[in-house]
Amino acid sequence: MSRKIIIAGAGIGGLSAALALNLAGFDVHVLEQSDALAEVGAGIQLSPNAMHVMQKLGLSENVLSRGFLPTSATMRHFRTAKEYLRMPLGNVIEKKFGAPYVHIHRADLHRVLHQAALSRGVQISVNTRVKRYQNLQIEGVNQVQVHLEDGREMIAAALIGADGIRSAVKKQMLPLASVEFTGQVAWRGTIDAQKVPRNLVKPEANLWVGPGAHLVSYYVRGGKEINVIAVQEQSRWTDTRWSVPGDVKVLRAAFGNWHSDVTQLLSKVEECFLWGLFASRPLDTWVDGHVALLGDACHPMLPFVAQGAAMAIEDSACLGQALSSNESINSGLSVYQSRRYARVTKVQRMAAKNASIYHMQGVSSRAKLLALKAVNSLSSDI
Ligand code: FAD
Repeated sequence: MSRKIIIAGAGIGGLSAALALNLAGFDVHVLEQSDALAEVGAGIQLSPNAMHVMQKLGLSENVLSRGFLPTSATMRHFRTAKEYLRMPLGNVIEKKFGAPYVHIHRADLHRVLHQAALSRGVQISVNTRVKRYQNLQIEGVNQVQVHLEDGREMIAAALIGADGIRSAVKKQMLPLASVEFTGQVAWRGTIDAQKVPRNLVKPEANLWVGPGAHLVSYYVRGGKEINVIAVQEQSRWTDTRWSVPGDVKVLRAAFGNWHSDVTQLLSKVEECFLWGLFASRPLDTWVDGHVALLGDACHPMLPFVAQGAAMAIEDSACLGQALSSNESINSGLSVYQSRRYARVTKVQRMAAKNASIYHMQGVSSRAKLLALKAVNSLSSDI
């Protein structure tokens, strides 16, 4: 079979897939619509399940050298700071799962993936937008023809749609599939840690839960920056963009009656973006002939278990393994979907369920147990 695979999208999912497929011996070409490769200016939590894949890709040290290792994850009451939950991370989680729990700036993670892909011979073309595809036979061999926005066409053994929540590949595969506004918005910003009083932010994954809102803060860049995500319920999202520049005054006012640790922290945010949070129901299929979806293109979810990118990274490892150990592309893609579907669907549901826990619709001992169970089961290996 031909070894050429085209990936639409150079996000965390597309680049991880490129590296996993490259490791499996495929000749990979990533097509990215933007004119430069970049990620949003915010942090990301990488749990051990994602770090296992980084280990397999030989990138764990690179990620760790740019990241931050939190000592624990805590859930606190928005006003009293009463601790509802404390879960050890650091050495404890690393010993248990064989990989650490890492906080990293997205731009740093993206750079690690991008540089590794280039140095290992993955071809990456920017300014190249995938428009549609066609499964076809050439001289008796099943292939896929990829049509680009600029009129060019490319042929490959497979096309992987890692083109995010607005995926053009998905739109063709499943014209009726839709993404919906979840009724939640998120402000995201980073703060220079030197500008924040010492000990205001603990070296943890700090989760504050309150009625209709929650806030997460943690260190990135070896402790030099603090990442803040503040989520609030909102009935509508009317902007055609996914994110808009946020107003720090509105952000501070929204959390104005929260604990002084939170209000002090928000007083240091100088710039932020406001994101509408969108998700979709599990799709009927991720595969059409020699085309498959990956990451947010097929399972966009609320970020309330910090697993969207982790699932895309897990998808990538599974895809590499399924394609290299199956006779045909078609059966490899089917195996990929069948191995990933149940786990990803479960995580999508967990993320949706956590909205009620995080927004204090019953912070009971049952809720605490559920949250603990969620983190434990997510961190298991693939
Ligand atoms: P994307 O990042 O959307 O990348 C898609 C790429 O495809 C883009 O570069 C785009 O330009 C390109 N593209 C689009 N269309 C085309 C086309 N037609 N042709 C070519 N290129 C195209 N996840 C975690 O694991 N941990 C966390 O802590 C976490 N926190 C989060 C916090 C917030 C507030 C949010 C909103 C999400 C969070 N997530 C987290 C989820 C995570 O950000 C996403 O799941 C992940 O970034 C998805 O990666 P992706 O590569 O699938 O898609």
